[in-house]
Amino acid sequence: PSGSLSDKNVYDWSSEEEEPDGRARPIQVLLVKDDHTFELDEVALSRILLAEEVRDREVVAISVAGAFRKGKSFLMDFMLRYMYKHASEDWLGDADEPLTGFSWRGGSERETTGIQIWSEVFLVDKPDGRKVAVLLMDTQGTFDSQSTLRDSATVFALSTMISSMQVYNISQNVQEDDLQHLQVTNTVKHLMRADFKPNKKSIYSMIFLVRDWSFPYEFPYGQEGGMKFLEKRLKISENQHEELQNVRKHIHSCFTNISCFLMPHPGLKVATNPHFDGRIIEIDGEFINNLKVLVPWLLSPRNIDVKEINGSKITCRGLVEYFKAYIKIYQG
Ligand code: GDP
Ligand code: MG
Repeated sequence: PSGSLSDKNVYDWSSEEEEPDGRARPIQVLLVKDDHTFELDEVALSRILLAEEVRDREVVAISVAGAFRKGKSFLMDFMLRYMYKHASEDWLGDADEPLTGFSWRGGSERETTGIQIWSEVFLVDKPDGRKVAVLLMDTQGTFDSQSTLRDSATVFALSTMISSMQVYNISQNVQEDDLQHLQVTNTVKHLMRADFKPNKKSIYSMIFLVRDWSFPYEFPYGQEGGMKFLEKRLKISENQHEELQNVRKHIHSCFTNISCFLMPHPGLKVATNPHFDGRIIEIDGEFINNLKVLVPWLLSPRNIDVKEINGSKITCRGLVEYFKAYIKIYQG
Protein backbone atom coordinates (compact mmCIF):
# COMPACT_ATOMS: atom_id res chain seq x y z
CA PRO A 1 0.00 0.00 0.00
CA SER A 2 1.02 3.60 -0.50
CA GLY A 3 1.28 6.04 2.37
CA SER A 4 4.33 4.41 3.87
CA LEU A 5 5.52 5.97 7.09
CA SER A 6 9.06 4.77 6.64
CA ASP A 7 10.33 8.32 6.15
CA LYS A 8 8.75 9.45 9.38
CA ASN A 9 10.92 7.37 11.61
CA VAL A 10 9.31 8.39 14.86
CA TYR A 11 7.94 5.04 15.94
CA ASP A 12 11.00 2.88 15.77
CA TRP A 13 10.18 -0.47 14.15
CA SER A 14 6.52 -0.40 14.93
CA SER A 15 5.27 1.85 12.16
CA GLU A 16 7.01 0.22 9.24
CA GLU A 17 4.98 -1.59 6.67
CA GLU A 18 4.10 -5.22 7.31
CA GLU A 19 7.04 -7.50 7.85
CA PRO A 20 8.21 -9.14 4.61
CA ASP A 21 6.90 -12.46 5.90
CA GLY A 22 3.50 -10.85 6.48
CA ARG A 23 3.47 -11.73 10.14
CA ALA A 24 1.09 -9.84 12.35
CA ARG A 25 2.64 -7.73 15.09
CA PRO A 26 1.99 -4.89 17.51
CA ILE A 27 1.67 -1.46 15.90
CA GLN A 28 2.10 1.74 17.87
CA VAL A 29 -0.95 3.82 16.98
CA LEU A 30 -0.82 6.37 19.76
CA LEU A 31 2.35 7.83 21.14
CA VAL A 32 2.91 10.36 23.88
CA LYS A 33 5.99 12.37 23.03
CA ASP A 34 8.50 13.88 25.43
CA ASP A 35 6.77 17.26 25.21
CA HIS A 36 3.53 15.57 26.39
CA THR A 37 1.79 15.94 23.05
CA PHE A 38 -0.20 13.04 21.66
CA GLU A 39 0.49 11.67 18.22
CA LEU A 40 -2.02 9.43 16.51
CA ASP A 41 -0.75 7.35 13.61
CA GLU A 42 -3.87 7.61 11.50
CA VAL A 43 -2.32 5.80 8.57
CA ALA A 44 -1.48 2.75 10.63
CA LEU A 45 -4.82 2.83 12.40
CA SER A 46 -6.70 3.05 9.10
CA ARG A 47 -4.63 0.34 7.48
CA ILE A 48 -5.75 -2.04 10.21
CA LEU A 49 -9.30 -0.96 10.98
CA LEU A 50 -10.41 0.12 7.51
CA ALA A 51 -9.32 -3.09 5.81
CA GLU A 52 -12.18 -4.30 3.66
CA GLU A 53 -12.94 -7.48 5.62
CA VAL A 54 -13.36 -5.68 8.94
CA ARG A 55 -14.32 -2.04 8.46
CA ASP A 56 -18.11 -2.53 8.51
CA ARG A 57 -18.11 -5.16 11.25
CA GLU A 58 -19.13 -4.30 14.77
CA VAL A 59 -16.03 -4.13 16.91
CA VAL A 60 -15.01 -5.70 20.19
CA ALA A 61 -11.96 -3.83 21.49
CA ILE A 62 -10.09 -5.39 24.37
CA SER A 63 -7.42 -3.27 26.01
CA VAL A 64 -4.87 -4.45 28.55
CA ALA A 65 -3.52 -1.42 30.38
CA GLY A 66 -1.04 -0.60 33.08
CA ALA A 67 2.58 0.10 33.92
CA PHE A 68 5.54 -1.56 32.21
CA ARG A 69 7.12 -4.83 33.37
CA LYS A 70 3.97 -6.17 34.97
CA GLY A 71 3.36 -9.06 32.58
CA LYS A 72 0.94 -7.43 30.13
CA SER A 73 2.63 -8.72 27.00
CA PHE A 74 3.01 -12.14 28.54
CA LEU A 75 -0.74 -12.31 29.12
CA MET A 76 -1.58 -10.85 25.73
CA ASP A 77 0.49 -13.49 24.00
CA PHE A 78 -1.76 -16.10 25.57
CA MET A 79 -4.78 -14.09 24.47
CA LEU A 80 -3.41 -14.15 20.93
CA ARG A 81 -2.89 -17.88 21.14
CA TYR A 82 -6.55 -18.27 22.10
CA MET A 83 -7.63 -16.10 19.17
CA TYR A 84 -5.41 -17.89 16.66
CA LYS A 85 -6.66 -21.28 17.86
CA HIS A 86 -10.26 -20.07 17.37
CA ALA A 87 -11.18 -20.61 21.02
CA SER A 88 -10.75 -24.37 20.64
CA GLU A 89 -10.47 -26.62 23.69
CA ASP A 90 -6.74 -27.12 23.22
CA TRP A 91 -5.94 -23.45 22.66
CA LEU A 92 -3.05 -23.49 25.13
CA GLY A 93 -1.04 -25.63 22.74
CA ASP A 94 2.03 -27.77 23.41
CA ALA A 95 3.82 -27.60 26.73
CA ASP A 96 7.15 -26.73 25.10
CA GLU A 97 5.96 -24.21 22.52
CA PRO A 98 7.65 -20.82 22.99
CA LEU A 99 5.31 -17.86 23.43
CA THR A 100 5.17 -15.29 20.63
CA GLY A 101 3.22 -12.15 19.88
CA PHE A 102 3.41 -8.85 21.70
CA SER A 103 6.76 -9.81 23.16
CA TRP A 104 8.27 -11.53 20.15
CA ARG A 105 10.64 -8.63 19.76
CA GLY A 106 10.89 -8.04 23.43
CA GLY A 107 14.30 -6.41 23.40
CA SER A 108 13.30 -3.62 21.07
CA GLU A 109 10.24 -2.61 23.01
CA ARG A 110 10.74 0.94 24.14
CA GLU A 111 9.14 2.21 27.27
CA THR A 112 6.90 4.71 25.59
CA THR A 113 3.54 5.71 26.94
CA GLY A 114 0.89 5.00 24.36
CA ILE A 115 -1.29 2.41 22.68
CA GLN A 116 -0.23 -0.49 20.51
CA ILE A 117 -2.75 -2.57 18.61
CA TRP A 118 -2.31 -6.03 17.15
CA SER A 119 -2.11 -5.67 13.39
CA GLU A 120 -4.51 -8.53 12.80
CA VAL A 121 -8.17 -7.97 13.62
CA PHE A 122 -9.91 -11.27 14.33
CA LEU A 123 -13.30 -12.16 12.92
CA VAL A 124 -15.34 -14.14 15.43
CA ASP A 125 -18.76 -15.74 15.12
CA LYS A 126 -20.92 -15.01 18.15
CA PRO A 127 -23.32 -17.78 19.22
CA ASP A 128 -26.22 -15.65 17.91
CA GLY A 129 -24.76 -15.80 14.41
CA ARG A 130 -23.30 -12.30 14.25
CA LYS A 131 -19.74 -11.98 12.98
CA VAL A 132 -17.80 -9.38 14.97
CA ALA A 133 -14.28 -7.95 14.72
CA VAL A 134 -12.00 -8.36 17.73
CA LEU A 135 -9.20 -5.88 18.28
CA LEU A 136 -6.48 -6.32 20.92
CA MET A 137 -4.79 -3.25 22.39
CA ASP A 138 -1.82 -2.80 24.70
CA THR A 139 -2.06 0.43 26.68
CA GLN A 140 1.14 1.25 28.47
CA GLY A 141 2.27 3.99 30.77
CA THR A 142 5.12 4.78 33.09
CA PHE A 143 3.31 6.23 36.10
CA ASP A 144 6.62 7.23 37.68
CA SER A 145 6.60 11.02 38.02
CA GLN A 146 4.00 13.76 38.17
CA SER A 147 4.29 14.60 34.47
CA THR A 148 4.34 11.04 33.14
CA LEU A 149 1.56 10.12 35.52
CA ARG A 150 -0.75 12.61 33.90
CA ASP A 151 0.12 11.35 30.42
CA SER A 152 -0.35 7.76 31.46
CA ALA A 153 -3.69 8.46 33.12
CA THR A 154 -4.88 10.28 30.00
CA VAL A 155 -3.82 7.45 27.70
CA PHE A 156 -5.55 5.05 30.06
CA ALA A 157 -8.74 7.10 29.85
CA LEU A 158 -8.54 7.29 26.07
CA SER A 159 -8.11 3.56 25.71
CA THR A 160 -11.02 3.05 28.11
CA MET A 161 -13.19 5.23 25.92
CA ILE A 162 -12.40 3.34 22.73
CA SER A 163 -12.42 -0.16 24.19
CA SER A 164 -15.33 -2.41 25.06
CA MET A 165 -13.31 -3.91 27.89
CA GLN A 166 -10.43 -2.40 29.82
CA VAL A 167 -8.24 -4.90 31.65
CA TYR A 168 -6.28 -2.96 34.26
CA ASN A 169 -3.18 -5.04 34.93
CA ILE A 170 -1.69 -4.40 38.35
CA SER A 171 0.82 -6.12 40.55
CA GLN A 172 0.18 -7.88 43.85
CA ASN A 173 -2.67 -5.81 45.22
CA VAL A 174 -4.98 -2.91 44.47
CA GLN A 175 -3.02 -0.06 46.03
CA GLU A 176 -4.29 3.42 46.61
CA ASP A 177 -1.88 4.52 43.86
CA ASP A 178 -3.48 2.17 41.36
CA LEU A 179 -6.85 3.71 42.09
CA GLN A 180 -5.51 7.22 41.82
CA HIS A 181 -4.17 6.47 38.35
CA LEU A 182 -7.78 6.08 37.32
CA GLN A 183 -8.49 9.67 38.23
CA VAL A 184 -8.84 11.43 34.96
CA THR A 185 -9.16 15.00 33.86
CA ASN A 186 -12.49 16.77 34.06
CA THR A 187 -12.72 16.75 30.29
CA VAL A 188 -12.57 12.98 30.18
CA LYS A 189 -14.88 12.64 33.12
CA HIS A 190 -17.38 14.82 31.31
CA LEU A 191 -17.01 12.79 28.12
CA MET A 192 -17.30 9.49 29.90
CA ARG A 193 -20.31 10.48 31.92
CA ALA A 194 -22.35 12.68 29.68
CA ASP A 195 -21.14 11.76 26.22
CA PHE A 196 -22.76 13.79 23.53
CA LYS A 197 -26.39 12.82 23.84
CA PRO A 198 -28.20 12.74 27.13
CA ASN A 199 -29.93 9.53 28.22
CA LYS A 200 -27.89 7.35 25.92
CA LYS A 201 -25.27 5.97 28.16
CA SER A 202 -22.03 4.53 26.90
CA ILE A 203 -20.78 1.39 28.53
CA TYR A 204 -17.38 1.40 30.15
CA SER A 205 -16.26 -1.93 31.52
CA MET A 206 -13.17 -2.54 33.56
CA ILE A 207 -11.54 -5.59 35.06
CA PHE A 208 -8.92 -5.18 37.73
CA LEU A 209 -6.45 -7.96 36.97
CA VAL A 210 -4.25 -8.48 40.00
CA ARG A 211 -1.04 -10.38 39.21
CA ASP A 212 1.00 -12.30 41.80
CA TRP A 213 -1.91 -12.39 44.22
CA SER A 214 -0.55 -13.91 47.41
CA PHE A 215 -3.52 -14.09 49.76
CA PRO A 216 -5.60 -16.90 48.22
CA TYR A 217 -6.65 -18.08 51.67
CA GLU A 218 -8.30 -14.75 52.28
CA PHE A 219 -9.69 -14.22 48.77
CA PRO A 220 -9.34 -17.18 46.38
CA TYR A 221 -7.82 -16.82 42.90
CA GLY A 222 -10.18 -16.09 40.05
CA GLN A 223 -13.19 -13.94 39.53
CA GLU A 224 -15.35 -14.69 42.56
CA GLY A 225 -12.54 -14.09 45.02
CA GLY A 226 -11.68 -11.02 42.99
CA MET A 227 -15.15 -9.57 43.24
CA LYS A 228 -15.28 -10.02 47.00
CA PHE A 229 -11.85 -8.48 47.34
CA LEU A 230 -12.72 -5.54 45.12
CA GLU A 231 -15.99 -4.85 46.90
CA LYS A 232 -14.04 -4.48 50.08
CA ARG A 233 -11.37 -2.34 48.43
CA LEU A 234 -13.79 0.02 46.66
CA LYS A 235 -16.18 0.40 49.55
CA ILE A 236 -16.92 3.94 50.56
CA SER A 237 -17.21 4.53 54.26
CA GLU A 238 -17.82 7.55 56.46
CA ASN A 239 -14.59 7.26 58.37
CA GLN A 240 -12.44 7.21 55.24
CA HIS A 241 -10.41 10.29 54.38
CA GLU A 242 -12.32 12.47 51.93
CA GLU A 243 -9.74 11.94 49.21
CA LEU A 244 -10.09 8.16 49.44
CA GLN A 245 -13.85 8.52 49.25
CA ASN A 246 -13.60 10.74 46.18
CA VAL A 247 -11.40 8.32 44.27
CA ARG A 248 -13.95 5.60 44.90
CA LYS A 249 -16.92 7.73 43.92
CA HIS A 250 -15.11 8.73 40.78
CA ILE A 251 -14.50 5.12 39.79
CA HIS A 252 -18.11 4.17 40.42
CA SER A 253 -19.35 7.11 38.39
CA CYS A 254 -17.11 6.46 35.38
CA PHE A 255 -17.42 2.72 34.96
CA THR A 256 -20.62 0.89 34.15
CA ASN A 257 -19.26 -2.58 34.92
CA ILE A 258 -16.38 -3.29 37.26
CA SER A 259 -14.95 -6.69 38.07
CA CYS A 260 -11.75 -8.23 39.33
CA PHE A 261 -9.66 -11.37 38.75
CA LEU A 262 -6.91 -12.54 41.10
CA MET A 263 -4.02 -14.30 39.33
CA PRO A 264 -1.39 -16.42 41.10
CA HIS A 265 2.35 -15.89 40.68
CA PRO A 266 3.60 -17.69 37.53
CA GLY A 267 6.72 -19.06 39.21
CA LEU A 268 10.35 -18.07 39.43
CA LYS A 269 11.35 -19.11 35.91
CA VAL A 270 8.86 -16.62 34.46
CA ALA A 271 9.73 -13.84 36.86
CA THR A 272 13.52 -14.10 36.86
CA ASN A 273 15.00 -16.33 34.13
CA PRO A 274 16.23 -14.14 31.25
CA HIS A 275 16.19 -17.14 28.89
CA PHE A 276 12.59 -18.07 29.62
CA ASP A 277 10.73 -18.18 26.31
CA GLY A 278 7.19 -18.63 27.55
CA ARG A 279 6.82 -22.40 27.34
CA ILE A 280 4.02 -23.70 29.53
CA ILE A 281 6.10 -26.49 31.01
CA GLU A 282 8.09 -23.88 32.93
CA ILE A 283 5.09 -22.01 34.29
CA ASP A 284 3.46 -22.85 37.63
CA GLY A 285 0.45 -25.13 37.26
CA GLU A 286 -1.73 -22.89 39.39
CA PHE A 287 -1.06 -19.98 37.03
CA ILE A 288 -1.94 -22.09 34.00
CA ASN A 289 -5.15 -23.31 35.65
CA ASN A 290 -6.25 -19.75 36.22
CA LEU A 291 -5.13 -18.70 32.75
CA LYS A 292 -7.49 -21.37 31.39
CA VAL A 293 -10.31 -19.57 33.18
CA LEU A 294 -9.23 -15.98 32.61
CA VAL A 295 -8.61 -15.99 28.86
CA PRO A 296 -11.96 -17.58 27.84
CA TRP A 297 -13.69 -15.35 30.39
CA LEU A 298 -12.26 -12.34 28.53
CA LEU A 299 -12.41 -13.59 24.96
CA SER A 300 -14.83 -16.44 24.39
CA PRO A 301 -17.31 -15.74 21.56
CA ARG A 302 -20.11 -15.90 24.11
CA ASN A 303 -18.55 -13.35 26.45
CA ILE A 304 -17.23 -10.66 24.14
CA ASP A 305 -19.32 -7.51 23.82
CA VAL A 306 -19.44 -5.07 20.98
CA LYS A 307 -18.38 -1.51 21.78
CA GLU A 308 -21.32 0.80 22.40
CA ILE A 309 -21.18 4.57 22.40
CA ASN A 310 -24.30 6.66 23.02
CA GLY A 311 -26.39 3.53 22.85
CA SER A 312 -25.23 2.45 19.38
CA LYS A 313 -22.98 -0.39 18.43
CA ILE A 314 -19.75 0.75 16.83
CA THR A 315 -18.03 -0.67 13.74
CA CYS A 316 -14.28 -0.64 13.11
CA ARG A 317 -14.82 2.34 10.86
CA GLY A 318 -16.74 4.13 13.60
CA LEU A 319 -14.03 3.39 16.11
CA VAL A 320 -11.44 5.17 13.95
CA GLU A 321 -13.67 8.25 13.90
CA TYR A 322 -14.17 8.23 17.66
CA PHE A 323 -10.46 7.72 18.24
CA LYS A 324 -9.66 10.75 16.07
CA ALA A 325 -12.35 12.85 17.76
CA TYR A 326 -11.16 12.02 21.27
CA ILE A 327 -7.54 12.76 20.39
CA LYS A 328 -8.54 16.14 18.97
CA ILE A 329 -9.96 17.09 22.33
CA TYR A 330 -6.51 16.64 23.84
CA GLN A 331 -4.64 18.28 21.07
CA GLY A 332 -6.91 21.30 21.60
P1 GDP B 1 4.85 -5.65 30.26
O1 GDP B 1 5.91 -4.60 30.18
O2 GDP B 1 3.77 -5.28 31.25
O3 GDP B 1 4.29 -5.99 28.92
O4 GDP B 1 5.51 -6.95 30.89
P2 GDP B 1 6.06 -8.27 30.15
O5 GDP B 1 4.91 -9.14 29.73
O6 GDP B 1 7.04 -7.91 29.11
O7 GDP B 1 6.74 -9.01 31.38
C1 GDP B 1 7.81 -8.43 32.12
C2 GDP B 1 8.53 -9.53 32.90
O8 GDP B 1 7.67 -10.09 33.89
C3 GDP B 1 8.99 -10.70 32.04
O9 GDP B 1 10.25 -11.12 32.50
C4 GDP B 1 7.94 -11.77 32.27
O10 GDP B 1 8.47 -13.08 32.12
C5 GDP B 1 7.56 -11.51 33.72
N1 GDP B 1 6.15 -11.86 34.03
C6 GDP B 1 5.13 -12.11 33.17
N2 GDP B 1 3.99 -12.36 33.83
C7 GDP B 1 4.28 -12.27 35.16
C8 GDP B 1 3.50 -12.41 36.36
O11 GDP B 1 2.28 -12.68 36.37
N3 GDP B 1 4.19 -12.25 37.54
C9 GDP B 1 5.53 -11.96 37.59
N4 GDP B 1 6.09 -11.82 38.78
N5 GDP B 1 6.27 -11.80 36.48
C10 GDP B 1 5.66 -11.94 35.28
MG1 MG C 1 4.65 -5.12 27.07
